[in-house]
Amino acid sequence: MTSARKALVIGGGFSGMAAAIELRKQGIEVDLTEIDPGWRSYGAGISLGAATIRAFKQLGILEAFLREGNAADGARLHLGSGQVIGELPAPRLAGPDVPGGGAIMRPVLARILAEATRASGTQVHLGVDFESIGQDADGVTVRFSDGRTGRYDLVVGADGLYSKVRRTLFPDAPKPRYTGQAVWRAVLPRPAEVDKALMWIGPHTKPGVNPVSKTEMYMFITEHRPVNAHVDPKDFARLMRALLEEFSAPLLVKLREQITEQSSIVFRPLEAMLMPQPWHQGRVVMIGDAVHATTPHLASGACIGIEDGLVLAECVGSDLPLAKALETFQSRRWERCRMVVENSLRLGEIEMTGGSKEEHAQIMRDSMMALAQPI
Ligand SMILES: Cc1cc2nc3c(=O)[nH]c(=O)nc-3n(C[C@H](O)[C@H](O)[C@H](O)COP(=O)(O)OP(=O)(O)OC[C@H]3O[C@@H](n4cnc5c(N)ncnc54)[C@H](O)[C@@H]3O)c2cc1C
Repeated sequence: MTSARKALVIGGGFSGMAAAIELRKQGIEVDLTEIDPGWRSYGAGISLGAATIRAFKQLGILEAFLREGNAADGARLHLGSGQVIGELPAPRLAGPDVPGGGAIMRPVLARILAEATRASGTQVHLGVDFESIGQDADGVTVRFSDGRTGRYDLVVGADGLYSKVRRTLFPDAPKPRYTGQAVWRAVLPRPAEVDKALMWIGPHTKPGVNPVSKTEMYMFITEHRPVNAHVDPKDFARLMRALLEEFSAPLLVKLREQITEQSSIVFRPLEAMLMPQPWHQGRVVMIGDAVHATTPHLASGACIGIEDGLVLAECVGSDLPLAKALETFQSRRWERCRMVVENSLRLGEIEMTGGSKEEHAQIMRDSMMALAQPI
């Protein structure tokens, strides 16, 4: 028996949609507000580990992902010359027949989740911000930018890195900080030889490719940029090609030539933020990037945000009083999310300072083992 009958989810990103779908499964009435009238999703591909595929299964979107994205086991590592140096294994957490990883275009995953959100019976309100959140002993009153007012037992802030819910409830919370690295991503045609995620270990960068469908893949390169200066999109293709110049691997040489001014390229300075506990105040709780925004070094930011939604709904749907349910949610999520944010930051530091390759490999291994644990 849940102590919440009606919930509001603020933010229709991956975390908010996962929370809405799972809260509906607990019989809770759900409103979701998304500030963007077009509910758009930007960016290139997104890499998915075994734990994310396991979460997709629970959400009920595994079939759609397997149809529209690309599932594959682990990753293959190369030297800059192209010589294979090893395979990173991936546990099959979603069942013996489902590969333990993969990738998909962000807008495709957003569409799949949006369809599942609407199908769950969630009432979606697009182009809507909130103006105030007021709490008393019995509930939360929210005033919206479209003039409506709603009364809820639970409010979930899933409004991302620059969360207004966080700024409103916790004005002293740490601000997102630039980490010193940026990521370049480009969508390219998928050659037949790219059967899974491939990475090349160079002296300064570690480019990789990951198939996002049968015909396309995305390329990613992390760059050390001590100053977070503006980069003119006119220069994107030239700068991305330059980062690949130190590699002689035949596939990378070929791919470098395919990066042109017409390519779809996304440049993103990396920011991170870990909100100290608690992540809730009264009946308002925050999830996803709003409380634990990570750099992509473990490709697990979306994973832990989606998992927040799963665990939150399970706790709120239990027979615990709401305050206790939110404490239980916090204690189940804290260590795992802290681990992803802090280990990802450490991996970035090692890359920027040319630090120990052994420590880098050990952190990757330990993190992957930790992520494979039940949530
Ligand atoms: C360069 C880069 C690469 C990444 N690669 C990976 C990867 O390969 N694998 C992986 O797992 N993770 C990756 N991540 C992390 C992942 O993208 C994020 O962790 C994830 O998208 C966070 O989802 P979210 O729903 O918590 O937040 P967001 O995606 O930020 O969603 C928040 C939503 O709330 C809406 N919103 C904002 N304010 C309001 C408001 N006031 N009212 C209503 N709505 C509002 C926004 O419009 C948005 O739709 C990467 C991140 C970066 C930066």
